[in-house]
Amino acid sequence: MGTCLFCDIVAGEIPCTEVHRDSEFLAFRDIDPKAPSHILVIPHRHVPALSTLGDQDADMMGRLLLTATRIAADEGLAHQGYRFVINSGDHGGQTVDHLHLHILGGRPMRWPPG
Ligand code: AMP
Ligand code: ZN
Repeated sequence: MGTCLFCDIVAGEIPCTEVHRDSEFLAFRDIDPKAPSHILVIPHRHVPALSTLGDQDADMMGRLLLTATRIAADEGLAHQGYRFVINSGDHGGQTVDHLHLHILGGRPMRWPPG
């Protein structure tokens, strides 16, 4: 086991409920769901946070968004809608320092969030 929870999940050393896996991304169900559908989409590569991204990550981030959009559709969320969230840093509420996109759906989302 390494120092990063989500790297360990990518490596299969910590179990998850997998929803999608391809050569670049893994999607799995959040262990503490905040909505009826709550899926995390992460790059296999350890990227600590949004704040560490650079120009070289533009294509990866585009693919992350499109992959998450397809997963949301496969989850049956496209018609009623859903929310994507990426928390970054302390004030953003990030608790796992490996970039992850939350897909939240299955109920109406409040705005602004608390
Ligand atoms: P964030 O607060 O944006 O960093 O989100 C981290 C998310 O990871 C939280 O929603 C947690 O519930 C979720 N989480 C933590 N540990 C696990 C795990 N072992 N499997 C699945 N989700 C997890
Ligand atoms: Zn990691």
